[in-house]
Amino acid sequence: MVSMDTLVSLCKRRGFVFQSSEIYGGTGSCWDYGPLGVELKNKIKQAWWRDFVQRRADMVGLDASILMHSMVWKASGHVDHFTDPMVDCRECRHRFRADQLDEVPWVHYCPATKGNKFTIPAAEACSHCGGRRTLCPDCGKGELTAPRQFNLMFKTFMGPVEEDAAVTYLRPETAQGIFVNFENVQQSMRRKLPFGIGQIGKAFRNEITPGNFIFRTREFEQMEIEYFVNPHDTVDGRPADEHWHDRWIADCLAWFQRYGLAAENLRLHEHDRAELAHYSKRTADLQYRFPIGWSELMGIANRTDFDLKQHAKWSGKALTYFDEERKEHVVPYVIEPSAGVDRALLAFLADAYREEEVRGEKRVVLRFHPELAPISVAVLPLLKKRGDIVRTALTIRDELSRRFTTVYDDTAAIGRLYRRQDEVGTAYCVTVDVQTVGDTDKGEAADGKVTIRDRDSMEQIRVTASQLGGVVGDLLGGQRWAEVAAEVGRA
Ligand SMILES: [Zn+2]
Ligand SMILES: [Zn+2]
Repeated sequence: MVSMDTLVSLCKRRGFVFQSSEIYGGTGSCWDYGPLGVELKNKIKQAWWRDFVQRRADMVGLDASILMHSMVWKASGHVDHFTDPMVDCRECRHRFRADQLDEVPWVHYCPATKGNKFTIPAAEACSHCGGRRTLCPDCGKGELTAPRQFNLMFKTFMGPVEEDAAVTYLRPETAQGIFVNFENVQQSMRRKLPFGIGQIGKAFRNEITPGNFIFRTREFEQMEIEYFVNPHDTVDGRPADEHWHDRWIADCLAWFQRYGLAAENLRLHEHDRAELAHYSKRTADLQYRFPIGWSELMGIANRTDFDLKQHAKWSGKALTYFDEERKEHVVPYVIEPSAGVDRALLAFLADAYREEEVRGEKRVVLRFHPELAPISVAVLPLLKKRGDIVRTALTIRDELSRRFTTVYDDTAAIGRLYRRQDEVGTAYCVTVDVQTVGDTDKGEAADGKVTIRDRDSMEQIRVTASQLGGVVGDLLGGQRWAEVAAEVGRA
């Protein structure tokens, strides 16, 4: 498994992810997606939206605002319960989560060695005096305050007056935007249960200990679905909510595998009673073997009727569904598959990374699923001094860029250009050479063909310029390289 340092350095060097406000020293745990990062991120979101919203007859989409009525967060429980217990150091003023104090190495001035300074591994005792940490782990000198509850929502003010009545929050999850629009969507789209609403958008949490690159950040993007089910229905003799919960777990797992995550790097983690939120009937996390170890990639929760009932209570609106067959009003149960875009991107990146040896040389390659590759096609002229080759290559780039993310590069020799594209995971390279345009001096006729090179196998095929768009479209649409190569013939 690739290390996080290797990924962070590749991401910076090749324009995937930069530290936010880096020229000012950076901001805590915020990251900016560079030219290749934004393409990768967009492609992940597009694939998710197409597969889970557009292609399913039982799903619709939504884009709710980030700023919502402050009562939403009262009803959802976030104002009162979305908190972490914090302690402060009276000396250095650093703040820690009370329950994570023993998860970090601690600084110790040891009385048994004339006060020498040591850094002792997390949760271990000093090997000289046997002492355990009681003071601030960072400075090793300050006393810690008693724990206080700290709310993780970013607070702000709506309008020009900074008064209590104007307090609102940046949403800590996109889910609530869906719940409060349940009736709007159900009625405007005339939906029958079961149906779901999907949404992709930013969310904000003032995490005390963010970190591990884009794994845990204060500003992040979610892809969430709330799937509404009639709790009185049964499917195959089981309660409908339980049936749909299993279906969503299977669908999400299949989705991540389809776009490239290896099965052995994915596993399911069932929440036990202690982990389960009080309103949840069952929650399963999809975990991925990140460079930091097995960690949550997404969660799929059965939230029962908790959220709709809470909003009904606080808003005074019914938020029920009329079951025509049984002639009764019911509050739907909700299955919530909730994924983080940034985490998904990190997983796809880690899984794609390979260091290979090709003819005695190291090749770094990102083996992204072709549909997710930030650049679908790179167009490369074999000789940049030949005006006709360059012109043809630029025309091809222009044509392909109507349908695919395409770049043109002529800043190095072809071998070097291939390595550069491999390192950022470009799915296919198209090369224009002397044969393509012909050589009048030598009396060689143009064959009008270009070479397509497959990133993973490094095999090449030759196709005519007029075939090119169709072949690339087939490849990106899921047709296997071997099949296409067999059809048009290897170069
Ligand atoms: Zn301190
Ligand atoms: Zn000691």
